[in-house]
Amino acid sequence: MKSLSDEPTRIEIDGQPLRCHHCSRDQFHRRRLRRQTASATGMRVDWQEAMSQAFICAHCGFLHEFLTH
Ligand SMILES: [Zn+2]
Repeated sequence: MKSLSDEPTRIEIDGQPLRCHHCSRDQFHRRRLRRQTASATGMRVDWQEAMSQAFICAHCGFLHEFLTH
């Protein structure tokens, strides 16, 4: 994946520095992801697109994902 070659950076979420939940490092690669979420209304299923921000730990690769509002 060529897009993983960007420089890892520190991330802040709501004023809090993000730390990896697994290894506690603070350097992450940033990704924007498109998510399909389904909501069932009666017999129909509506697919909606939502965007999310993903931060991949530069050390261990743990993926932290935040849905954008
Ligand atoms: Zn990590």
